Amino acid sequence: MRGSQLFSNARVFTGTDETGFASAFRIVDGRFDWVGDAADVAGEPAVDLGGRTVLPGLIDSHTHPALMAATAVAAECFPPSVVSITGLVDRLREHAATLTSASAWVLGRGFDDTKFPEGRMPTAADLDAVSTERPVLVWRCDAHSAVCNSAALRLAGITATTPDPPGARFERGPAGEPNGVLTEIAAVEAVSRFIPVPEREEQRASLVAIGEELASRGIVAVCDLLSNRLHDPLDAFRSAADQGLRTRVALYPGWDPSAPLAELTEDDREGRIRIGGVKVVLDGAYSNRTAWVAEPYPESCDHGLRLVDDEDVLAAGAWARRNGVQLAVHAMGDRALDRVASLFEHEEPWLDGIPSVRIEHATIISEPYAERLRSARMTFGIATHTVFFFAEYDGYELALRAEQVPDAYPIARLYRTIEPLALSSDRPATAWSGADDVMLSVEAAVRRQAYNGADFVPAEAISVAQALLLYTGRAALLSPLEGVGRIAPGYDGSFAVLDRDVFSVPTDEIAAVRVAETWIDGEQVYRRPPEDEEDRT
Ligand SMILES: [Zn+2]
Repeated sequence: MRGSQLFSNARVFTGTDETGFASAFRIVDGRFDWVGDAADVAGEPAVDLGGRTVLPGLIDSHTHPALMAATAVAAECFPPSVVSITGLVDRLREHAATLTSASAWVLGRGFDDTKFPEGRMPTAADLDAVSTERPVLVWRCDAHSAVCNSAALRLAGITATTPDPPGARFERGPAGEPNGVLTEIAAVEAVSRFIPVPEREEQRASLVAIGEELASRGIVAVCDLLSNRLHDPLDAFRSAADQGLRTRVALYPGWDPSAPLAELTEDDREGRIRIGGVKVVLDGAYSNRTAWVAEPYPESCDHGLRLVDDEDVLAAGAWARRNGVQLAVHAMGDRALDRVASLFEHEEPWLDGIPSVRIEHATIISEPYAERLRSARMTFGIATHTVFFFAEYDGYELALRAEQVPDAYPIARLYRTIEPLALSSDRPATAWSGADDVMLSVEAAVRRQAYNGADFVPAEAISVAQALLLYTGRAALLSPLEGVGRIAPGYDGSFAVLDRDVFSVPTDEIAAVRVAETWIDGEQVYRRPPEDEEDRT
């Protein structure tokens, strides 16, 4: 937006610190130019925000728009709408009935078997009830595992004699025949690589639509932590930006030792859409007991999965250092977290202003471990989640040893210790529809309760302002997304107007607070439709 516009009569959370509030701001040529007290600009022509609460445009520091665009045709199978194998099969059947192209697969995502009354993973035998002709594949909510039908196994050529890929498993029946359950990414990819790729034009349209959805959540900037789910992601996102995608995006392609990434140019690291770093997935997830852990999972001798060697993590780190971008390491289990610290804590950081090494998820953080990261020579930052324990409580209850529970997602401890810290959605790898609803994560951070009302380490609760800083000012310290996170002079004129005051509603109503308007660079990009209109949809 060119020109100057004053906004007044609002409760403005500026994102600078827990007590940073103002009541008016001015945007000049798309950027905040002044923030202060409405009384100081009384009488000047202004947009009246009606006393509503305003937040800086929100940052989702760990999400997966490229994956969403690559599988835009997948049916949503998240709880609470799908909570049984029967329900999953019904949902996929409905979706199959809508497919017209002869070569289309029946795809779904988001099921959470820990919520199924059947008490087991679905298998190919279940999904054959969806189709015996079309391949069917549905991702589990963690996006590390999936289930496919017999037609998909056939197409991928996976039989009783096919060996498991490294770091992954084709689950099998008594005679060694694959039963359709694909555990960990390499096993999923052995099948998913046969899924017909959406046309470039379709992908672009999906990315633009994802940007609009993000805006409806008040989100104006994201980090994509596995951007190479799309071919040439930088080009895909930048051409989507030419067609209307307004979101700022930092891309983190995955590290593949067999196909090293090209060296970056200056241009790759700059602009609204840029390469932010490289991602390595060191272990699996707690909710399906594949996180790499020091002590075995309860009632087992299973230590989870380590997915890559030290050499690969170090090679990815060397690439990041050489190219002036971040290394992002997926590490959930305590053993994986210890490994990340051991590999990098004594190294010289290579970036200024933001951490050289980001840790993704970081489920188990003891006080000494947090202190170890804080005092290391290396600069570490963390992207973690409260929506995980909210949505996947049942999985964590089965996977965490009793003595680990107090150290699970200890947000208050992290808030005190690690400055570059963010809460984030991990959508669509989180078992809840609408996982990127920021207010759902904020309520979980404040109340520390799961979807079923169970307490989850209430001692680690933080305040609403603290939780919102982890989507604004503090989140901005974690990644190279410039110009976002604060309502302060020089920052992008991007902000969200709420329908209720999130700072004063009862804590059990925080998740019901909605974004009424989202503005990017001084332009309104989203306005919530009136309630009556919405009820009809
Ligand atoms: Zn993720």
